Amino acid sequence: AIHLKDVHLSLGQGAGRVHILKGVDLEIARGTAVGLVGPSGSGKSTLLMVMAGLERADKGTIRVAGQDLQPLNEDALARFRGRNIGIVFQSFHLIPNMTALENVAVPLELAGHPAAFAKARKELEAVGLAHRLDHYPSQMSGGEQQRVAVARALVVEPEILIADEPTGNLDESTGRQIIELMFAAQRERGMTLVIVTHDLSLARQCDRVIRVRSGEIDEEAPADASAEPVA
Ligand code: ATP
Ligand code: MG
Repeated sequence: AIHLKDVHLSLGQGAGRVHILKGVDLEIARGTAVGLVGPSGSGKSTLLMVMAGLERADKGTIRVAGQDLQPLNEDALARFRGRNIGIVFQSFHLIPNMTALENVAVPLELAGHPAAFAKARKELEAVGLAHRLDHYPSQMSGGEQQRVAVARALVVEPEILIADEPTGNLDESTGRQIIELMFAAQRERGMTLVIVTHDLSLARQCDRVIRVRSGEIDEEAPADASAEPVA
């Protein structure tokens, strides 16, 4: 589960300082799939980073997978992330000089898993990449790279899977396959899924659609909301 209470965050220095999150309250039950929508610049990615413990809030309560994040020091926060949160970005973020298998093994090795490579191999097989284990990112298509990223996000069996426009760099049918992989994993493993998207039809496949506007949760659209433009 994810509980945010009165979360505020400003970023930038001096005159460039921007108040981005302006008192976000949000409760997401464990096992729920949430589509996060809203205009460009509204704070969706920033909100995800706060949920993932990658960005610290200035104020507020952030409780994720039963853990209050604000009091944790950097080491504890990194350990928490490594065990509880999987993240998929628009631009894959694979390590270029590591093979697919090595990329997926990284989170397990960091967590001290005894059989990192065997587990990483299974996770890659599950996303349909048994034939790409030893390929480097530059030797794979965008869709394949994103499958590796999904496998890497899932390999520690996190409670929470977070994705920031994961299909933004993919063609429509490849993007749909990636989404199906994430939804299937979410259902099978009972994970909480939070996915930022500009694709309203994708958002509607989620259990809840949450709209961000100017750093606040503006409304929660019903899952079958009318085709109101997102941006
Ligand atoms: P998009 O749909 O375009 O990805 P978004 O909703 O994800 O947009 P964010 O990336 O969260 O928006 O950014 C929200 C606002 O915060 C934007 O106005 C952005 O310019 C600003 N912002 C983000 N990071 C910083 C930073 N490090 N310093 C200053 N301002 C920032
Ligand atoms: Mg964004």
